[in-house]
Amino acid sequence: MPVGTTTVWNDILSELKLNHRELVRHWFEDLSLVAFDGGVIRVRTRNPAQLRYLEQHGQSAFAQAAQASTGRLVTALFDLDDKNAEPTQNNNLKKPGPGGLLAASFNPAYTFDNFITGPCNRMAHAVAWAVAEGSGQDYNPLFIHGGPGVGKTHLLQAIGQKYIDRHPDAQCHHLACETFVNNFMQAVERGEPDTFRATYLQTDLLIVDDIHFLSGRERSQEEFFHTFNVLLGAGRHIILASNQAPPEIPHLEERLINRFQSGLVALLESPCLETRLAIVNAKAKMHCIELPENVAQMIAASVEDDVKGLEKALLRIEALSQSRALPIRESLAREALSPPTSRPIKVSAIAQATAQRFDIAVEDLCGKSRIKSVLFPRQVGLYLARLLTSRSLEEIGEVFGGRDHSTVSQATRVISAQADEDHELSLLLDEITKNVKNASI
Ligand code: ADP
Ligand code: MG
Repeated sequence: MPVGTTTVWNDILSELKLNHRELVRHWFEDLSLVAFDGGVIRVRTRNPAQLRYLEQHGQSAFAQAAQASTGRLVTALFDLDDKNAEPTQNNNLKKPGPGGLLAASFNPAYTFDNFITGPCNRMAHAVAWAVAEGSGQDYNPLFIHGGPGVGKTHLLQAIGQKYIDRHPDAQCHHLACETFVNNFMQAVERGEPDTFRATYLQTDLLIVDDIHFLSGRERSQEEFFHTFNVLLGAGRHIILASNQAPPEIPHLEERLINRFQSGLVALLESPCLETRLAIVNAKAKMHCIELPENVAQMIAASVEDDVKGLEKALLRIEALSQSRALPIRESLAREALSPPTSRPIKVSAIAQATAQRFDIAVEDLCGKSRIKSVLFPRQVGLYLARLLTSRSLEEIGEVFGGRDHSTVSQATRVISAQADEDHELSLLLDEITKNVKNASI
């Protein structure tokens, strides 16, 4: 990189760390600015996962950071080191259906590739795959049900995306039941119910999510019944998802319950621990987060039913790692997942609790001595102050006897790495943390 470009790149990185912390990942240091030309910066990534991440989340942050650093209007583009490119996939995923408004756009992350299977969902996955491939004619309608967050929407979208990929000339309508109901009501108000019906009747594959929304909506049930019969009679495919099995949906007409059960009803169960672990690792990969195995296990064990909760926990840990500039380790993960304290924790309280635990005087902990019996407790205190407070390295150093930021940062690195290997140290950190929190209530 020419010298001028290096400076611009360093400025952009600093700007990102300052104003877009939640976006920054450890591997940003591996990125390179390959061109800065005519209002465009081109940033090169090392692997396809990084490229996907930046294309999905980084465009405006990089543009803003480049703008702030150069004072010019800048567009950010990302590319991939040629030698690391993966074979291109068919991206022709969104095919607007007739009437446009019916076809919801697909989430590119909700594919079969990203859907983790286990005993809880293997059957639903297999039939969904068969329908998407075109070999699941017997599963018509396919009715998928399960509690919130177990992957129904993901699976439905995976079917739609694969189906369009496989059948580029077919018409696939994917929509939430609420959209169906709203569109129908609007069409009735406009006096155009026939136009509304006509759009659906051209469909080869109709996918309706959250069909339990029909509950208690008599006119919409009538309309859906009609659409359903015509499509099924014409040999078209219908896939539905719901939070409940057909007979359990309240205020749903008997004839609709019967229709919904006339094909295949598949239950998506809450994922077991092993599947949750695989999902956490897959989500970490998707968000380009480096996740140690013990932390992945902790997340998988901490959230039982709702897969959405797993992802939220993962992102909370990543956010804390970024804001405290600490690597993701067990103690940091535990802190990120613990309920917040009502009052902010003070660095002085941490020094106090640490000195007490090691049975030394606070004056010694924060004093000049470098003998081992105070050096180690001091490193522990500095680490905990970094973990449990949002104070800067300088502010923490100040409370611990005027130590400079590099001392704090070094202590933090040493303890965080050691705690990973040393179970006793990890318990000790927990104990002091608990004492500090109890004292801060
Ligand atoms: P539902 O529609 O059942 O409420 P979603 O499909 O919206 O649940 O899933 C919630 C989140 O969990 C999404 O981010 C989805 O990608 C993820 N998820 C659920 N099940 C799986 C799975 N088996 N593999 C990968 N991700 C999953
Ligand atoms: Mg859903």
